[in-house]
Formats: sequence, structure tokens, C-alpha cells
Amino acid sequence: MNARYRIARTSRRGLLRGGLATAGVAAAALAAVLAAPFAFAQSAETDKPAAPAAAPAEPARVVASFSILGDLVKQVGGPLVTVDLLVGPNGDMHAFQPSPADSRKLAGAKLVVMNGLGLEGWAERMIKASGYTGPVVIAAKGLKPLAKPAGGHGHDHGHGHDHGRDDPHAWQSVASVKLYVANIRDGLAAADPANKATYAANAEAYLKTLDALDRDIKAAFDGIPKDKRRVITAHQAFRYYGAAYGIDFRGAKGVSEESEPSAREIADLIKLIKKEKVRALFVENISNRRLLDRIAQETDAKVGGTLYSDALSEPSGPAPTYVDMMRANTKALADALKG
Ligand SMILES: [Zn+2]
Repeated sequence: MNARYRIARTSRRGLLRGGLATAGVAAAALAAVLAAPFAFAQSAETDKPAAPAAAPAEPARVVASFSILGDLVKQVGGPLVTVDLLVGPNGDMHAFQPSPADSRKLAGAKLVVMNGLGLEGWAERMIKASGYTGPVVIAAKGLKPLAKPAGGHGHDHGHGHDHGRDDPHAWQSVASVKLYVANIRDGLAAADPANKATYAANAEAYLKTLDALDRDIKAAFDGIPKDKRRVITAHQAFRYYGAAYGIDFRGAKGVSEESEPSAREIADLIKLIKKEKVRALFVENISNRRLLDRIAQETDAKVGGTLYSDALSEPSGPAPTYVDMMRANTKALADALKG
């Protein structure tokens, strides 16, 4: 690590002491990080001749709040970063409550990446408790959010994780994730300026992959009439997907709860499916085979498989990366709607 870099790091710690957690403060912190190396470069150069920027001996450690963001950081950072997750594959983002062990993950991290839009209501307290004073990237910064569906989005667990009125599930639209990638790229470049060009090149390549993904998702629904694109999901996390790709996602009383729906709720659900001509249901929480069979017998709707909403699968599963997740969801939806 050369002298210039070390001075910049020290000044950043000084500048940012005092905690940062809201998107606004984090953005200001990021701006300070961007400014710091430049501001101190000159005084460093008067002391000693500037050493050429060298790649760090070991990868930069980045903490991401959940698995989908973690994958995006890996795509942009490549071997220059290692990623620690607060909520891992198959984890429930909405039920997360950080423990002291989670706080400790922030120690020594070079960058923290959060979604924003109220998803990480616990972030401010956690960052303060951890003593972390480095930069925080809000991946959704600059995004125009959709409002939350009325009546919550399916698994708020009733204990106060649901802050704000924005729908946080913006990663379900590829166009939104392109903004996430740009914010992550800029955050990595600011935290590790020596490798700025590599982060830029990785991001550019990945953005092309995302463009291809976006085209493929649109093509998957070609030929399915608009009025036959009506889907009920247990977790109302797909409104960004619906807006981007023309799918009408609905919630239904009974299927949006953690517990099994009652017989009455199933009867109401069947009525709703018929009336609204719903084509497919993705209701992971209805495990009762008899009830699913009844829905299939009494309506034309198909009961689809799994939609990945807030977490990737394990590496061996069908959705180990963001691109895999979007392809798996799209296949499940298109198969069910075509049927
Ligand atoms: Zn969710």
C-alpha cells in the first residue's frame, strides 16, 4: 500500500466518524470518500515521490445486506473483492434482526452495500453499533420507487420491519438493477480507486449481460395476450417485474399469510381466480396438497413452482446468481401462463 493511499484512508476515517445510515447521509459520505483521496494527494506528493498505484495484496472485503446484492458486488468486483452477506441464500430479508455477530462482520470492511427503499430498517442502528465508519452504497439510490401494495406485501411478520411506503423489491426489474450496478461500480471505485478501471470494465460487461437478460425476459412472454398474464403470488414482491414485463401480479387474502389459509379463504381464493381469470398461482406457503388439487380442479389456473423474490438459492440450486434467478422466475411464469 503506498503512502498516498494510506493518507487518504486515514482522512476518510476521520471525516466519516459519527455514523452514517440514512441514504442521504450515506450519499454525503460517499461524496466525501470521492473527494478525500484527491484532496490529500498533493500534500502526500510534496513529502515523497508518488509511488505507482498498486493492486492491493488481498481482495477488498465488502459486506452486502442480502444475497442478490452480494452477487451484483461479485459481478462488478470479480476477484478484487470478497463478499460477506448479512442475510444469506434462501434467507428472509424482512425477518432479519442483526445480532452482535452480524455487526462484527462490518469490522475491517472496505465497503457496505445496502438496497435502500426502507428494506434495511435496522441499518442505521447496526452501523452505529458496529463502529464502522467507512462508505455505504445505497444500491437503489436515484431510482424512482413504486409505492407499496395496499395492505402490506405478504410477510411483514407484524413486528415493525416495514418502514416507509416505498416498495423495496426493485431488483425484480432488470432496468433497476442496471442502476444498482452503476451505484456499486461507483462505490467500489471510490473505496478502492487503484482498481477503478477494472470495476468500470467489469460493470460494462455485466451491463451487457443484463441487457441480453432483459430482452430474453420480454421475449419469453411474447404471444401471451395481456389479459392472460394474471398471476397470484403469496409474497407481493413482483410489482417491479410486473411493471417492466407486463404481468399483472395480485395478492390474495389468505395466501399472503405465513400460515395455511383456512377453508373459507381457499373458497374465496377460488372465487377470485374465476372472476379475475387468474392464470397461475405461486403459493409456496400452501403446502396442503388437497387444497392445491381443489384449486386446480375448480379453476383453470395452474399452480406454479417457486418464484425467487428476496433471496438467491444455494449455489447448487436453480437460482445461484441474479441472472439465474431472473431466468428461473421467467421460465416458471411463462410456463404457467402458456399452459
Ligand atoms: Zn420481500
